[in-house]
Amino acid sequence: MFSYRHAFHAGSHADILKHLTLIHLVSYLQEKPGALTIIDTHAGAGIYSLKDGFATVSKEADGGIFRLKQFSQDYEKLDKPLGEGVKDFMECIDAQNLGNEVDVYPGSPFIFASLLRPQDRLKLFELHPKEIDILRHNVSQLKQAKQIDVYAQDSFSRLKGLLPPPSRRGLVLIDPSYEDKQDYRYLETVMEEALQRFATGCYAIWYPIIPRRESVGLPDRMKKIVTSHQRAWLQTELRVENVPGERRLQASGMFIINPPWTLKKYLAQALPILVKALGQDSGAQFVLNSFET
Ligand code: SAM
Repeated sequence: MFSYRHAFHAGSHADILKHLTLIHLVSYLQEKPGALTIIDTHAGAGIYSLKDGFATVSKEADGGIFRLKQFSQDYEKLDKPLGEGVKDFMECIDAQNLGNEVDVYPGSPFIFASLLRPQDRLKLFELHPKEIDILRHNVSQLKQAKQIDVYAQDSFSRLKGLLPPPSRRGLVLIDPSYEDKQDYRYLETVMEEALQRFATGCYAIWYPIIPRRESVGLPDRMKKIVTSHQRAWLQTELRVENVPGERRLQASGMFIINPPWTLKKYLAQALPILVKALGQDSGAQFVLNSFET
């Protein structure tokens, strides 16, 4: 159960799709001054070195953030517009790095922390015995540390206890590794419970697109649950290549419940640029679907 370490995947194309989407969700939810509670149910270590350690073994950043950084610099030189989404995302990554290189990649806890206003709160769950220590250490270095709670607990059983947040304004990221097949089932249960307790919350679920029955059926199962609660949803996917039989992750998706009305336009602008920047073959493409109540 504890074989997954996110450092192997930090800065991958899947992280880019996820984190670019999250940046817009937070920015929209902060348009109102009321306190926002952000819950990250699967936090990981918080921030990752791309210059040593696990990331240099897997080299997933080569096809992700390094490629996007090069692409954005080339665009800048040609004076071509990157578009709001990719620009916001690159600014967020660059802010965590001292020079012009991407030496470190912030995970969702550091991205969220960097966006907190004084009235906002961030709640992080992490179960891995090594990751939790690294996460606690990393969070303690942040100037926003006092606004952040870290729980060494199983978020699938604990999430409902935090809902609804006191201000009734909340964003929940659910980002399991899905190494354990049970995660697919836990996700359905936790979403049923969450929507019963806090139907108006904004939920962002990341999922891998892999040839596994549970994975293929996940978006449709989510749509069924969300529609039965009469809530709106948005589904987006990014595929960077299409090589049948290849074991590395070639595509991933985000399923957003109660998406801001601005999200579809934001992604419609960013996704073609991501396909151009990160696409490895002619199979590279994106998906953007939504349903409004
Ligand atoms: N959200 C992170 C990001 O975007 O940077 C990446 C998280 S990684 C995909 C998933 C993490 O969830 C792993 O570090 C794993 O140890 C942790 N995890 C797995 N099951 C969990 C559970 N039931 N509750 C809390 N954390 C869990």
